[in-house]
Amino acid sequence: MKGFEHLEAELKEMKEQGTFRKLTLIESEQGSKVQINGKEVIQLSSNNYLGLTSHPRLTKAALEAVEAYGAGTGSVRTIAGTFTMHDELERKLAVFKHTEAALVFQSGFTTNQGVLSAILSPEDVVISDELNHASIIDGIRLTKAKRRVYKHVDMADLETALQETQSFRKRLIVTDGVFSMDGNIAPLPQIVELAEQYDAIVMVDDAHASGVLGQNGRGTVNHFGLDGRVHIQVGTLSKAIGVLGGYVAGPRVLIDYLIHKGRPFLFSTSHPPAVTAACIAAIDILLEEPELIEKLWDNTRFFKDGLQQLGFDTGKSETPVTPVIVGETALAHQFSDKLLAYGVLALGITFPTVAKDAARVRTIVTAQHSREELQQALDVFAKAGRELGIID
Ligand code: PMP
Repeated sequence: MKGFEHLEAELKEMKEQGTFRKLTLIESEQGSKVQINGKEVIQLSSNNYLGLTSHPRLTKAALEAVEAYGAGTGSVRTIAGTFTMHDELERKLAVFKHTEAALVFQSGFTTNQGVLSAILSPEDVVISDELNHASIIDGIRLTKAKRRVYKHVDMADLETALQETQSFRKRLIVTDGVFSMDGNIAPLPQIVELAEQYDAIVMVDDAHASGVLGQNGRGTVNHFGLDGRVHIQVGTLSKAIGVLGGYVAGPRVLIDYLIHKGRPFLFSTSHPPAVTAACIAAIDILLEEPELIEKLWDNTRFFKDGLQQLGFDTGKSETPVTPVIVGETALAHQFSDKLLAYGVLALGITFPTVAKDAARVRTIVTAQHSREELQQALDVFAKAGRELGIID
């Protein structure tokens, strides 16, 4: 189309390189199995860690909230869009995260953008792990602070960065708690020690750790016994919590500041009642049913061990996020297509999301999967992997 020739050219190149992807359309509710093209397949690509997306307590809470409060809120939070249930959710999140206060944003993505852009100024420096999530990278781009990226989980490089930046007003170290493409856990105890030694602030994005690690799924900070020593904890309500949204938990002063300066919070409409009520129900479930998290970890161990015994390269994964690294972009897509044809949804993740030679299919088991489903999935991985020469 006229005016978009440059976009057409780029898309054509993607098609030639085999990186152009169509969206996968799901025809059922989310779960251990989903329907695609009229066929039931085992779902290994969702972030629905605890199977809460369609949990009866969440759907009931959502329905009741719609009936009582309607479909939308009609305003941003700071004008007329804060309902008592928003306040209730934030209080629950603060208690859950063992912090003074918490604030909900529209998504995990906008939380990182909103927090980083609000609290950093040109006289500050942000020190960021090179494999941090895109929302952290974009959040940093929105600030005028100096940026220093340290090598992935490399504590010597982090210390060098801290030594090089002693003249700045504030230094903020930011890291994913669990890295979303590799499933490894950030070395938070060492990061916190260095931060204390060099008087820096620490911010952790626990999108893939909340509901997964720590007591009742409180996240990496609690997992490492670091409650009270990490200044800013970001989380999402759209993965283990099963709904939508993001939040930041920390000291009252930070939350009060973000209410006045967090731009997505200020300028975008608040969550509808159904979403908010379902999130409250999900936090209650985390506190009341820790056995869901045990099941998630049981399933994780079984599936990861199974993949490794088959000879697949699962990288440095320590959590339910388990990549199966195959190398070439095209091979990752072929592998994913074959898996789907044999009844397993596990999507390819390729450059630029991961390095050019580290294309993979990424798997995430959930607490909802049965042993039979996971064994069936392993059989499919073995068959597809052998056919493509990925394993012997
Ligand atoms: N941070 C990390 C580490 C993530 O993996 C994601 C989800 N892709 C986000 C933030 C964004 O969360 P949300 O989907 O709620 O916007």
